[in-house]
Amino acid sequence: MSDWPELDAFLETDPADVGCDEAMRILHIYVELVAGGEDAAARYPGVASHLRQCGPCSEDYEGLLALVTDPPSDGLRQTLRKKLRGPR
Ligand SMILES: [Zn+2]
Repeated sequence: MSDWPELDAFLETDPADVGCDEAMRILHIYVELVAGGEDAAARYPGVASHLRQCGPCSEDYEGLLALVTDPPSDGLRQTLRKKLRGPR
């Protein structure tokens, strides 16, 4: 800790970090960009910065990206469909 709280805050968190709410709001757009080979981090540096620092949000991001870039196989899709329908 120093006598300069702003500096401490700066070192702990990236000032560009948009926070969870904003990151989640933009996440699907961000994922589309990444999946499309665009430089999403350059477009949304605040989101990129947040995903580096926030575990839960980066997990959501990884999951969404996996879904977009690697669609579930037929077998998995059927399993999901069964789960969505629920037990009969
Ligand atoms: Zn977050």
